[in-house]
Amino acid sequence: MDEIRIYPDPILRKKALPLKNVDGQVKEIADRMAESMHANKGIGLAAPQIGVLSQIIVVDLGEGLRILINPEMVEGEGESVLEEGCLSLPNIEVPVKRKDSVFIRGWDLDGKEVNLELVGFPGRVYQHEIDHLNGILIIHHISRLKRELLLKKMLKKLKDS
Ligand SMILES: [Zn+2]
Repeated sequence: MDEIRIYPDPILRKKALPLKNVDGQVKEIADRMAESMHANKGIGLAAPQIGVLSQIIVVDLGEGLRILINPEMVEGEGESVLEEGCLSLPNIEVPVKRKDSVFIRGWDLDGKEVNLELVGFPGRVYQHEIDHLNGILIIHHISRLKRELLLKKMLKKLKDS
């Protein structure tokens, strides 16, 4: 099984590339992502988190697995702040400001366009995963000082465990 890439793995800061079409290889990557996400009890995962720089995300909020290729936030309205965690940043939570209601567009595994209108927490999860495709982690939503303190704490815990 694919290990989840943990910060400061440099691949987490790279931009994932858009896919031109959905082939068998894309399906295989999406399967591997879903497997790693479920094994780690995650609710979302982006391809760079298993070391693949392609624009693929998987989300499972308990209502079944959704795979989105080339996802983008087309529109967003309102804002709220909530503590978020990330499988690539064990043991820390960060308050992140995100859009309340969003319109997300992407493709499914058949290459068909999918449009999602999401409000509240589900929309937040998609925004988090799309951030990953742009090399942005939750720690990049806070000040540099807070980030350095949190990362020091996280790396110490990882070393001790
Ligand atoms: Zn994450």
